[in-house]
Amino acid sequence: AIRPLVAGNWKMFGLRSALAQIERLRALLAANPPGADCAICPPFTLIDAAIKITAGSAIAIGAQDCHSADEGAHTGDIAAPMLADLGVRHVIIGHSERRTDHGEGDSLVMAKACAAHKAGLSAIICVGETLAQRDAGAALDIVIKQLEGSVPAKANAANSIIAYEPVWAIGTGRTPQTDDIAQMHQAIRSYLTNRFEDGGSMRILYGGSVKPKNAGELMSVAHVNGALVGGASLDSGDFNAILDAY
Ligand code: 13P
Repeated sequence: AIRPLVAGNWKMFGLRSALAQIERLRALLAANPPGADCAICPPFTLIDAAIKITAGSAIAIGAQDCHSADEGAHTGDIAAPMLADLGVRHVIIGHSERRTDHGEGDSLVMAKACAAHKAGLSAIICVGETLAQRDAGAALDIVIKQLEGSVPAKANAANSIIAYEPVWAIGTGRTPQTDDIAQMHQAIRSYLTNRFEDGGSMRILYGGSVKPKNAGELMSVAHVNGALVGGASLDSGDFNAILDAY
């Protein structure tokens, strides 16, 4: 069986005071160990402190992006070896907000995932259709095309995690029908199994308005191997309640 992963993406939220949420989560998980792996991806500014707080706990720390180069003259960017050096384990790559805000296309996303792999990080590679694409009946084709363009040839179950995040479900309180999630995750699974030797064991997360009240239903869908949680990951109680789905 695939060990699920519930990962929190804090996005551009959190001053140092938010570290108290990670301390609280650590205490909650120590009292009640989850049946899933757990990661928090805070902004870059909190990563070092978050790693110190979570040392020896069940919480892994991730980042939300990295550059495609190991180092270089790239003002304001962060390289994957810098993250690995801190003890970061995962890095989110190709989130729809980066694809939109920073014009990241599939080839850049793949280059970033390769950089993450080279640094020994696990890449959480994000894909997902817009509402217009879903309404046009193109969701499956779009997602498979994104996987083809974004997931490196050397991806495997240890270094890569796929996150399916329908763009229209992010931060909207809307989620797809469970049948639609099941169909998409099945299609992603088939794609991974065809392309990769261990594609049957690669984790496929669902993301988009995952909350304590819908986590049980969403996480029970076939080939949903965990969640990528935005807003609800900022509160340790809500995030712990989502982990409780396992
Ligand atoms: P929300 O959970 O806030 O909808 O965000 C989902 C997301 O984008 C996680 O990466």
